Amino acid sequence: MKQLNFVIDNATGLHARPAKVFVKTAKQFKSDIRVLHGSKKVNAKSLIAVLGLGVEHGGTIQVELDGVDEELAAEALQTAVATGLGEGEHKPEPATTNLVAAKPAPGKPAAPTPVAVDKLPKNGLRGVAAAPGLAIGPVFQLRQTAVTLTQEFAGVAAEQDRLETALACGQEQLFALRQKVAAQAPEEAAIFDVHRELLTDDGLLEAVQQKIEARQNAGQAWQATIEEQAAQLSALDDPLLAARAADIRDVGNRILKLLAGDDSSDVQWPDHPVVVIAHDLTPSDTATLDPQKVLGFATAVGGPTAHSAIIARALSLPAVVSVGEGLLDVADGTAVILNGSNGMIQVNPDEAAQNEAKSQLAAAKKQQQVASEQAAEPAITLDNHRMEIAANIGGVADAQKANQSGAEGVGLLRTEFLFLDRATPPSEDEQFAVYRQIAEAMEGKPVIIRTLDIGGDKPLPYVKVPPEDNPFLGERGLRLCLNRPELMQEQLRAILRAASYGSLRIMFPMVADMSEWHAAKTMVDEIRAELNAPEVPVGIMIEIPAAALMADLFAKEVDFFSIGTNDLTQYTLAMDRMHPTLAGKSDGLHPAVLRLIDATVRGAHASGKWVGVCGELGADPQATPILLGLGVDELSVSVPSIALVKAKIRSLNRAEAQKLAAKALACATARQVRDLVGD
Ligand code: PEP
Ligand code: MG
Repeated sequence: MKQLNFVIDNATGLHARPAKVFVKTAKQFKSDIRVLHGSKKVNAKSLIAVLGLGVEHGGTIQVELDGVDEELAAEALQTAVATGLGEGEHKPEPATTNLVAAKPAPGKPAAPTPVAVDKLPKNGLRGVAAAPGLAIGPVFQLRQTAVTLTQEFAGVAAEQDRLETALACGQEQLFALRQKVAAQAPEEAAIFDVHRELLTDDGLLEAVQQKIEARQNAGQAWQATIEEQAAQLSALDDPLLAARAADIRDVGNRILKLLAGDDSSDVQWPDHPVVVIAHDLTPSDTATLDPQKVLGFATAVGGPTAHSAIIARALSLPAVVSVGEGLLDVADGTAVILNGSNGMIQVNPDEAAQNEAKSQLAAAKKQQQVASEQAAEPAITLDNHRMEIAANIGGVADAQKANQSGAEGVGLLRTEFLFLDRATPPSEDEQFAVYRQIAEAMEGKPVIIRTLDIGGDKPLPYVKVPPEDNPFLGERGLRLCLNRPELMQEQLRAILRAASYGSLRIMFPMVADMSEWHAAKTMVDEIRAELNAPEVPVGIMIEIPAAALMADLFAKEVDFFSIGTNDLTQYTLAMDRMHPTLAGKSDGLHPAVLRLIDATVRGAHASGKWVGVCGELGADPQATPILLGLGVDELSVSVPSIALVKAKIRSLNRAEAQKLAAKALACATARQVRDLVGD
């Protein structure tokens, strides 16, 4: 048994980020580790419990370690605390006051600065600006319904099983939500990783377990524990911890619904677009709002740095928060003008006000519209060079949208969507049907189907991977599929059967080594011969620096490359793409990444092969001229970005872009590259 005392120097104490680092460090060790503060003693491996200690700046904690690796654990915790628990420069978390704007995601608008001096219009409500833009329309009040739980108890083992199934399903739902938000705003999507982590919180799970053993059913045990833990954090009267309490309730409710078999997502939406009002919206609520039906939203509570506000900005939904409970007196169907830029809501505006708001809205849409009108036209530079613009999609609906939005093909179909949210893998027939529908929806345009990119960070209940210390460096992507050939063979059979319904291509993710490519390509060739299927181009993703550096050799054999800049950046800079503090610095415009892209393009073109970019960098307006200048042949971007990326290409001159790219390759930092490109 070892004991240590620490003074927590972080400006905001042992709060969200430092607490997360502390707990993550403790979790690496087998020893039992407890943290004592005041009269409380908690499990150091439980984020909720550690947050609940409410340790402030300058506060002292005592840590007790007991177990085989207590020495190592003590050393690691000492180092973690001494180096600032992820806040090396002791940067405080942004205070959750109404006047602090959250850091914008790259390419996304920042939180609007509230304009305190604006005069409140007649019939006006004032809240806090949370996501810019105007929404004009009738109100629809979104009411949260309570989940009804049964009283039955089926026995300890059966209740544990139910809980485990619900937790696994919750993990998958959260992963799917994360993917949805990540397509627009990868940074904001990280909140769903926090939610996933809460579902593995030792303290939370232990408390539920105890209640199940005391003969409460899984639903009751879960509900009571979530309430206790969230209440503990709320009681500390701290806005940051209150936000964590909201996260616990949000994720708690998700599991509760699964346990109760309640699908209350079937809200009766009106058949026309609405401005949603609610007491509050969780990040999950916000991420699932349908932009076809929702013009914007306002909440009675909440702050502009809350995750739901951040997600609203990511999804381009105008939003006002913290309006007060008076908001909920506005009846369904009442006309409002919601201004997400100044935080004001005009209730029952007169005709003149409505007209003025409408003309403002029209002007804002004009720019997007000009781009959209030309979306179907090719993207040709001023000096007559054509770049292909394709779509990143995750399913049939996306394919239909992509085809209508000017996509010249699908540059990346993430097939994970077919494999998530289920207890068994999709059958070959099921997969065939989906690939065929996508091929048909794209009406003969090329569709690149990426084989399953799963593992480590993207677990599937029916693909058991032993726990890994570094999932991103573990069994994922092609590696995992080659180790489970039946999974890959079924998928390849389904793709090759669908190949005669369109123009399909196959792409392997996470290729590091030529032998992996050979094994995968041999599988394709064998299955193709067996099925007598048409020949399809087969390529690889360039996501691992090793593959970029070997591009000249790969290019002699593959039909094409597509550069996954999200992973290529993470592996080049050794920065976890989901890391709460590093993700913002993990910039694909880093010259090291650009040099790898350059090597890939040169390698490919020397063998007459083409290169695409399907990572987020492809839609970053500052990256467009550089990628064009480096000789990238295709950009594959999310559907909403297609028109804007095409418009951007049309404004560029390739010869100029080549000069700019050459200068970028000689820069020392990503910042220098961004300054070089300018606005
Ligand atoms: C990438 O890594 O850039 C990529 C497109 O793949 P994913 O984001 O699905 O890992
Ligand atoms: Mg990737």
